[in-house]
Amino acid sequence: MADLLVLEGIEKRFGGIHALKNVSLRIPENCIYGLIGPNGAGKTTLFNVITGLYEADSGLRMFRGKALPLTLKPHEILQRGIARTFQNIRLFNEMTALENIMVARHSKSKAGVLGAIFRTAGVRAEEQSIRERSEQLLEYVGMAGKGDRIARTLSYGDQRRLEIARALAAEPALLTLDEPAAGMNPTETADLAKLIQRIRTDRTNVLLIEHDVKLVMGLCDRVAVLDFGQVIAEGTPSEIQANPKVIEAYLGGG
Ligand code: ATP
Repeated sequence: MADLLVLEGIEKRFGGIHALKNVSLRIPENCIYGLIGPNGAGKTTLFNVITGLYEADSGLRMFRGKALPLTLKPHEILQRGIARTFQNIRLFNEMTALENIMVARHSKSKAGVLGAIFRTAGVRAEEQSIRERSEQLLEYVGMAGKGDRIARTLSYGDQRRLEIARALAAEPALLTLDEPAAGMNPTETADLAKLIQRIRTDRTNVLLIEHDVKLVMGLCDRVAVLDFGQVIAEGTPSEIQANPKVIEAYLGGG
């Protein structure tokens, strides 16, 4: 299977803390890929390196066969096709659900955000199409009819779904989800799992960090396990669950 994202020899230090040690990963196309590991293992740091929030000290990052220089900023990574959500939800709280998605689509559109402010006839037509596409996205994530709701008044599960819709508005080739099930109840988690499966089937590839091991094992095609900044195992969920190193470092306790 073709590689989607390749990391080779990624190193990241914070002062004396060696957070990522020679991390190499190959994430294939058409995949839900999970990243798990104990607290402090380096998962968020690796996520931040992939999405440009942190600059790795050294190593190689390739996406669809092209180098993504380590110096690229988050918006440049987004332009190249990797979108993300955050562990702590980051919505425009005072905007409506629909506006939250439309903002993301405007930055993708040719007219851009400035175009949306200085409205010409052409831009108005484009805005109408952005509105329609954004409404479709809301419906896609199971929030039809909630477009006029102010983001902060939405339920927690809906806020998480809205974040995913906003990330999808950029039409990424890889959607990265940082602990998408955190704080969700079992029903919301089950709905989320269905949504992620649907996204893989008809939209895009997914990479997620998640503490809910059961969710990861049931959902992901492949899983990598980080421990003390190193990849200690990589494979299918059944391979990972049977791996003695993983059981000792991580799964044994739970
Ligand atoms: P958790 O599951 O608790 O979120 P994690 O696997 O995501 O943990 P990281 O947050 O990536 O782990 O942390 C890896 C190591 O790097 C930890 O020792 C952490 O304290 C350190 N670290 C992470 N970010 C920073 C930072 N900005 N400055 C200093 N140290 C950091």
